[in-house]
Parts: sequence; structure tokens; C-alpha cells
Amino acid sequence: MPLLVMKFGGTSVADLDRIANAAAKVKREVERGYDVIVIVSAMSGKTNELVGWVEQTSPLYDAREYDAVVSSGENVTAGLMALRLQEMGVPARSWQGWQVPINTTSAHSAARFVSIPRDNIDAKFSEGMKVAVVAGFQGLSPEGRITTLGRGGSDTTAVAFAAAFGAERCDIYTDVDGVYTTDPRISSKARKLDKIAFEEMLELASLGAKVLQTRSVELAMRYNVRLRVLSSFEDTDENSGTLVCGEEEIMESKVVSGVAYSRDEAKITLFTIEDRPGVAQAIFGPLSEAGVNVDMIVQNISEKDYDERHPGAVTDMTFSCPINQVARAQKALEEAKAEGKIRYDELIIDTDVAKVSVVGIGMRSHAGVAARMFESLAAENINIKVIATSEIKISVLIDRKYMELAVQALHDAFELEKTA
Ligand code: ASP
Ligand code: MG
Repeated sequence: MPLLVMKFGGTSVADLDRIANAAAKVKREVERGYDVIVIVSAMSGKTNELVGWVEQTSPLYDAREYDAVVSSGENVTAGLMALRLQEMGVPARSWQGWQVPINTTSAHSAARFVSIPRDNIDAKFSEGMKVAVVAGFQGLSPEGRITTLGRGGSDTTAVAFAAAFGAERCDIYTDVDGVYTTDPRISSKARKLDKIAFEEMLELASLGAKVLQTRSVELAMRYNVRLRVLSSFEDTDENSGTLVCGEEEIMESKVVSGVAYSRDEAKITLFTIEDRPGVAQAIFGPLSEAGVNVDMIVQNISEKDYDERHPGAVTDMTFSCPINQVARAQKALEEAKAEGKIRYDELIIDTDVAKVSVVGIGMRSHAGVAARMFESLAAENINIKVIATSEIKISVLIDRKYMELAVQALHDAFELEKTA
């Protein structure tokens, strides 16, 4: 039997009517001849409520009990979905993570998959079960405790099942109808993409296009799981939504596929640091220990590299991080300075920046993307504060107040409203 994985997010199972609507979509695939593994999220808002209950009960909670409580939302949806399918005449049953079992590490609230043995579910399929409804987001630790994967983790559960069971495709039903060239709330010209490559989706997901949990895309890329994002609120067929797939499946792609942004960035500069081996490590070591997610890093060229009259060997270092980590970063740097581990004259913090990026696998083989990007920002009189590039992405930090304008200008400059 060909097998499909279908995942329904929180808004798609928000109440009994929506569960019935999702079940009807599952039934249709069964009628087309598929065995189906359904992965469900908690009903929308439920996980937040459960987290709140834990925090009110015990501010410094035991992470194992946090997972026991917070994983329960998915159990409810899985049972209700199985019941609804049975009412529709579809042989279905629910599975909690430990019943499969979904073996994970014991990193509570951030667990990673270790293995998903197929035997239990396969045995039921061969007895005539057509649908296995599995609670997303949860697993079982080696110690026999319930774990969770981190917020948004049901996407990753879905991809892991698709990989483990060799599914033809993994359909992620959500409240948007696909992946867009940019955020349609910012540019009215944003266009839904039919296909997007794993690498591009990864860049877009981590840059704030929060349709899929980043880990789920990483896993899909590693196991070559074809992933489709589509709306549970519309009538859908096999061509709906956006397919996230390997490059080889994308015949024609534009040089740039999308414009992404991240609003909540901060830029930190250390002025006049020493230019000698070990300085970068002395700066970024403490930042990493403090849990700061450093993104762009720019080090100035040192005077000694171009002017022999200035052997003083000093330079400047700038990096970006999420705005809510600035306090932590500042503390780590000031402590390192006080302990004599690093030297700098001044620490300048700019919390009014945003990051805008153009992404596309076509950049690997096309020149001129950077020039076109900078030209379009210059035409809008937007000053670029930091530039960083990768093989398939160019990112700039700019003043936050120009973020929307920059996204619109770049979408226009690369004509993303047009298909390839
Ligand atoms: N219910 C969990 C959350 O809200 C997992 C998920 O829905 O993906 O984060
Ligand atoms: Mg989600």
C-alpha cells in the first residue's frame, strides 16, 4: 500500500468541527488507496494554556513533569481524531508517543529522535487498520519518561514518520495555503510558490517565515522527504499548496525565490579590540556560554594590514543577535572585559535594526544578485549597516523603520510576482 503522512496543526484541529473537516480530508486519501499516518497537534491555544499551568504551579519546574503536562494536548486531539474517523467508517486508532514507541533523547522539552520502530503500527496496518493517528510533539526517553520536542515540534514528528515509513509525501495542513515569495502582509504582490528547494525553505524558515519548524525542514532534507504545505480550510487536491523538495525536482527556478525578514535584531559593536590570534574566541566563547545566538559577524580589517606605520594592531568587531538576547550578550562581554579576557574601548548597541535577505538556489550560478539588491536599496535611500552572504543568500541589516519598504523594493526588483 502506498502511504501518506498528513499533519494537522493547532488551528486545523481547533474545535470538533475542524477535526471533522480534517478527518474528511484523511478519509478522501484512504478512498484514493493510501494507508495514512496522521500526526496531530494540540487544539490551538491548548499548549500555551498547559505551559501556563505548569509555570503557575512551579516556577522552577521539574522538566520531566513539564513534558508530562504539556504533551497531553496532543493526546486529546489524537483520540478525538481517531473517534471521528471511526464515526465516518474509517478503521483508525490513536497512538501516543510511548506506544509506538517514538524513542528520543532525554533532553526534556528539546528532545531529539533516536528511533521510530515500525513494527507496532505496521502490524495494525496489516490487520486492516487504514489510519494511525499519532500524537505529535512527544516521545519516550531512555529512562521511560515522556519527552517533548520543543514548540512547533509536531512538524518534525510528521517528517520523522514520513522518513521512517517511506511515505510517498508528507502533507502539512495549516492555516496558510503555501509558502510565499515574501510575507503577503508586507507585499501585496507576494506570490505563492508551487515548489521550493529544501535549502531555500531552510533559509526562509530560519529567517522568520514561520510556516514550518526549522528542524522539520532539516530532517526532510536529510532523508529526502517530499514535504507539502497546504491549507486545511480550502478544498485541496494533489496540486495544492507548496511542495518543498530536492532541487532536482525544480525544473526552472528564478535566481531569487524569496525575500525574508527578521524584525527583532540587534547589532553590537566592540570598538578597538586587539588584533591577534585568540581574540575572536575570547569574545564569542563567553557569548556562546551565555546562550546568545550570534548571527552575522563582521570584523574590520586591521590597520596593520595596510599601513606599516600603524603596527598597533587593533580592529573592530560587529555582530548581530536577537534583540531579546542583548542584555545577556552585554553582561557576558562586560564580564569578560572585567576579567581581563578581552579589551575594547567601547560597546555600541543598536536595537533598532532589522534583517532583510534575498534567498535563491539560482544565486550559485548567477552573478549580479548583490549588485541588484544594493541598487534597489540605494534607490529607496536605505542605508545598509551590515552585509553577510552565503551561497544562496544575501542578508543586510538596516534601520527597522525601513524594513517593510526594503522587502517591497526587493520583491519588485527581482520581479518575484512573476513566475519563472
Ligand atoms: N502543540 C505544540 C506547540 O504548540 C506542538 C505543535 O503544535 O507543533 O508548540
Ligand atoms: Mg506549527
